[in-house]
Amino acid sequence: MTSNSNSQERYSRQILFSGIGREGQQRLLNSRAVIIGCGALGSAQAEALARAGVGKLRILDRDFVEASNLQRQTMFTETDAAERLPKAIACANHIAEINSDISVEPEIADVNHSNIERLIADADVVLDGTDNFATRYLINDACVKHQKNWIYGAAVGSYGVTMTVRPHETPCLRCIFPEAPPAASAPTCDTAGVIMPIISVVAAVQVAEALKLLTGDVKNLHNSLMQFDVWRNEWRKISIGKPLADCPTCALGEHETLNAEARDFAAVMCGRYAVQISPSESVHIDLAALRQKLEPAGEVKANDYLLRFRTGDYELTIFQDARSIIKGTDDIATARSLYSKYIGN
Ligand SMILES: [Zn+2]
Repeated sequence: MTSNSNSQERYSRQILFSGIGREGQQRLLNSRAVIIGCGALGSAQAEALARAGVGKLRILDRDFVEASNLQRQTMFTETDAAERLPKAIACANHIAEINSDISVEPEIADVNHSNIERLIADADVVLDGTDNFATRYLINDACVKHQKNWIYGAAVGSYGVTMTVRPHETPCLRCIFPEAPPAASAPTCDTAGVIMPIISVVAAVQVAEALKLLTGDVKNLHNSLMQFDVWRNEWRKISIGKPLADCPTCALGEHETLNAEARDFAAVMCGRYAVQISPSESVHIDLAALRQKLEPAGEVKANDYLLRFRTGDYELTIFQDARSIIKGTDDIATARSLYSKYIGN
């Protein structure tokens, strides 16, 4: 068989589906989706879009796989957790086995004001797989500024929510939530835990919306804020109307999160009892040399992408870009002093 007929066979059930058809399938194959955050929602989106034949998937994540992810992050395996693979890399490895015809562009990165505009510049759609409102406002600002459709999604406990933003056609995230909702901005936002079924529901609706956008079927978008609770059995569809006339982002064009002078050097990570320290400018770290330096001071393990150093109650994970995730504290001052002691300023 030619690769074209292979492709027809692989996607035959999707081509039979009237909403997509042969032309829609070709559009999917020619599209690029950018997935920001490859945890529970992001890895579910990545798998579904890869299987659907979206031709290019850019997968962005700053973290590595841990055992506590496996209950809901269905893309990952015990081996990924044991090897502490960065999620972007583990996800790319699995997608290569699921669909070798598409191209995956993994990037181990903390998405922030300095890189987001570059990372979404050639996107046909952007999907939210993050776990915090600060990054969602950043995505909203960048996508509205560059007229990119993006799909908000969040899940905690058994509750989830999603909304599709088409800049200047529908309300943006800032129109609906002028400030982060209290539940999402609490310091330990996932201490409530989360169950996999709500992840599946939210990711499924996000992916369906992405397929409609990529195939050009705008009239079938749900045009609402959709809320689900799979434990309390509540499903709500709240109509969202038009963009607000005085929205700072989509009406006044302020995009404040993109104009930050310098991003916070340190940030407590949601529900992780960990702090992320990012260098103020991008540097490349020689992990082999760092390993030699740290070995006398504690237990060191490394793979191609990161180095893990355990000392006392703390565990430092250091990436090649000198970013570090410090586990064992939620105190920024403690984390900063560990960083400067072991990694440098
Ligand atoms: Zn707006």
